[in-house]
Amino acid sequence: MSEEASHIVCPACEAVNRVPAGKNASAAKCGRCHKPLFTGKPVAASAKNFAKLIRANDIPVLVDFWAEWCGPCKMMAPIFEQVAAELEPRIRFMKVDTEAEQALAAQYNIRSIPTLMLFRKGAVVAQQAGATNAQGLRTWLRQHAFSESMT
Ligand SMILES: [Zn+2]
Repeated sequence: MSEEASHIVCPACEAVNRVPAGKNASAAKCGRCHKPLFTGKPVAASAKNFAKLIRANDIPVLVDFWAEWCGPCKMMAPIFEQVAAELEPRIRFMKVDTEAEQALAAQYNIRSIPTLMLFRKGAVVAQQAGATNAQGLRTWLRQHAFSESMT
């Protein structure tokens, strides 16, 4: 495991970067566009880059499906950002605006927002509807995002 490299998709240009396990991915820059692979902030995803971002990343990807008119979503936004800053680069944090990206919301059958969906290699491994606080989000991620890698 420690000898392996991780494939990290650049959120800016969608290039797949190979980051050696010993290297600090939070400081890594994209080999193609030279932008940082992690900025400590959630990535706004669209139908254009969503599939690649959830499938080609070796790290788990957490998606917050939200909308501008949704009060609980706005309440959760700073919490999501805070936990993103804490847990990158072990998890990629993304946001999907369900108003702008209705096809994605339909594809993933989003019935209420906010909905959090955790992906690993393109597959949904956990999901949760409703706002959560920072501690709740950390606990949920510890259960679902890190369980397989903690061998
Ligand atoms: Zn790039």
